[in-house]
Amino acid sequence: MEFQSEQATSYERELSEQTLWRLKSRLPNRPQLEGIAALLIENEFREPEEMQKWIWHRLKHFLQFAVNQVPYYRQLAGQLGMDVRDLESPSDLTKIPSLTKGHLRQYAKELHAEILPGGYDVIRSMKSSGTTGEPVNVDFSRLSLRFFGMLKQREFRWCRYKPEGLMAYIRPPDDFPHDSYEEIGKTYRSSIWPYVGAWFHTNRSVGYDHTRPVDEQVAWLNESRANYLVIESGALESLAFGQENAISSGHLEGIQSVATQLTSDMRRRAESVFDLRIDQNYGLNEIGIVASRCPEGGRYHVHSEHCYLEIVDDNGQPARPGEMGRILVTGLNNLAMPILRYDTDDLAEVVTGPCPCGRTLPSFGKIMGRYRRSAYLPGYTWQYWENFRNAFESMPQTVLKSLRQYQLHQFTDGSFEFRYVAVGDSATAFEEYISRAWLQAVESIGAGEKVKFEIKRVKKIPKSRGRKYQNFTSDFAPPEDGSDPYAISH
Ligand SMILES: [Zn+2]
Repeated sequence: MEFQSEQATSYERELSEQTLWRLKSRLPNRPQLEGIAALLIENEFREPEEMQKWIWHRLKHFLQFAVNQVPYYRQLAGQLGMDVRDLESPSDLTKIPSLTKGHLRQYAKELHAEILPGGYDVIRSMKSSGTTGEPVNVDFSRLSLRFFGMLKQREFRWCRYKPEGLMAYIRPPDDFPHDSYEEIGKTYRSSIWPYVGAWFHTNRSVGYDHTRPVDEQVAWLNESRANYLVIESGALESLAFGQENAISSGHLEGIQSVATQLTSDMRRRAESVFDLRIDQNYGLNEIGIVASRCPEGGRYHVHSEHCYLEIVDDNGQPARPGEMGRILVTGLNNLAMPILRYDTDDLAEVVTGPCPCGRTLPSFGKIMGRYRRSAYLPGYTWQYWENFRNAFESMPQTVLKSLRQYQLHQFTDGSFEFRYVAVGDSATAFEEYISRAWLQAVESIGAGEKVKFEIKRVKKIPKSRGRKYQNFTSDFAPPEDGSDPYAISH
């Protein structure tokens, strides 16, 4: 079943959807928020050429600011002999070296603007604590943070979430602001939706800790009668395993998967279990929301009002249509700490031509997260994992019904361990299926080597740092620095 409508929307339709979202009356910054909301809709349907010009104008303005006010970029421009006024088009950006997380850490001080224009005060510093090296600090200007809420609302409008609906979060409790906690029922409560509820009138929201057992999560969600759910991708997959055997009251109208990569087979399973399209976005702690998945066309539209996105090949040149390339992001609203061509460690596919939705914002195709980690893994590891995962797609429901969570782990001797959490007594049929799936995965690669593989039923899947579930872990992968590249995109 296909969950993308492929039907075009229009400027008028979006304007009418926006009327459901009423800004609160006594906001001191209300005129500015109204202006941003109007601009966002207008930009969605500009002529592509006009949009390109608008983007380039903003980008050049931002580059000029960075070179004038930010010591790191002033020095870089000096070394390159670069005058921003000479840059003619976005392709000239390739002259500027990309910025890595290491640079961000090393030059944190030099990346701060010396003088900020009025209204661009720094109001929050985001710290992603590190287990390797120093933590990365990014300071945000007020405007930059405003965009977070406004882009979140744009996303909800695109997905047709209605603010009068009840919003549910199954997340680490720290990640959704709440007013109260109820011991009985284990429910976190808030009188508004997180983030957008600060400015727009919304209904209440409820939250549940994602570390609680999956079947409890399923029961809680179904009893909550929530209309919308926000949940991490790995937890969504577990929830789908649990939900397949539960009786749903059918009140859910939208699900947004956040924080970690949702692969296409995870998506298909969740979509078929919940009989709903799964909505997604792509964001970075260091920038905010970068792009949101189009409900009609399935590609990701970049929020050009907030950032500029490039997809480059191994030589740093723009990747060609159909190719996967590294995602580099330039933030456009954070004058406090300008970040140009930030190397995200993720890959995306270059797409061309118009999106079926009719929106003309720049877009890209599928995303592959954190590609570099695979470079540390012994040959074929990734293929083993991919082929093995595919087996879950065709697994009969009768075999799958007791599964709740799983993880494949690779040890330094090259052997693998499959850990899983299940309900009920016997899981023999499931384990047999997993053994066969593993053999097929190994054979289909044709590596001809014997790989040690063990299956272990466990009570709990160990969490990796950063509190995320990971379906695949390896002792070969370097330790994570603890930052969560998508954490801000609740
Ligand atoms: Zn679209």
